[in-house]
Amino acid sequence: MSPFSLAGRTALVTGANTGIGQAIAVALAQAGAEVIASGRRDCDETLAMMGSGRSLTLDFADPMAARDVFAAERIDILVNNAGIIRREDAVDFSEADWDAVMDTNLKALFFTCQAFARAALPRGMGKIVNIASLLSFQGGIRVPSYTASKHGVAGLTKLMANEWAARGLNVNAIAPGYIETNNTEALRADPARSKAILDRIPAGRWGRPEDIAQTAVFLAAPASDYINGAILNVDGGWLAR
Ligand code: NDP
Repeated sequence: MSPFSLAGRTALVTGANTGIGQAIAVALAQAGAEVIASGRRDCDETLAMMGSGRSLTLDFADPMAARDVFAAERIDILVNNAGIIRREDAVDFSEADWDAVMDTNLKALFFTCQAFARAALPRGMGKIVNIASLLSFQGGIRVPSYTASKHGVAGLTKLMANEWAARGLNVNAIAPGYIETNNTEALRADPARSKAILDRIPAGRWGRPEDIAQTAVFLAAPASDYINGAILNVDGGWLAR
């Protein structure tokens, strides 16, 4: 069997109703996995694109939302993609926006990984793919809770890899650059900002959700069994500049 095949594996993708999460769900299904597309809204469009699979409602406003999911059935691959952003100057940033972003992007991610690991460690195999960001490495501006949360995702990815690698779990992350999704619609609609971003990307184009999805397939597949605690930049070279 190809080391890139996911035949016989079950995968759960969070935030799979749109954008990067939707593309990851479709790509995992195309690689042979049975995919559970999870969202706080319905994932009907994703299910139609996959042509197979299931959907599951999980709202990570509650960081414990996924606590019982992995005990109920065998899931081999977890992709933590759900994420939100709030923009405001650091000097004016509210506690509510801090908590909302940290709860969804970091706390829910950690406790979802923990629930997954509790089920997968006894089996001695499993793959976790976390979606990080350029702001896992850079400071950004006007996004303090997002930057803190994504730095946290990078750190936790390495910690969990350290603790679980010898027990058969691969924990890795993808750091997307500027990807064409709802998240970046406002940036792309602003000609000056859009041009400034494009001028800085060595590859000369924005990323597409599919660019992230194919990396997720790799990190979910046997081909990446010796990769632990890596944060793969999929950014057209942005961080290399
Ligand atoms: P989208 O806004 O299109 O997707 C975000 C997804 O997260 C949506 O499915 C959204 O659901 C889901 N989500 C948000 N809050 C919750 C919640 N409480 N419970 C469950 N699901 C939730 O943006 P992207 O596809 O761009 O973002 C996907 C990931 O990629 C995020 O983690 C983001 O930080 C990261 N990323 C994106 C980059 C980009 O350039 N686009 C760059 C770097 C990182 P709903 O539709 O219901 O809101």
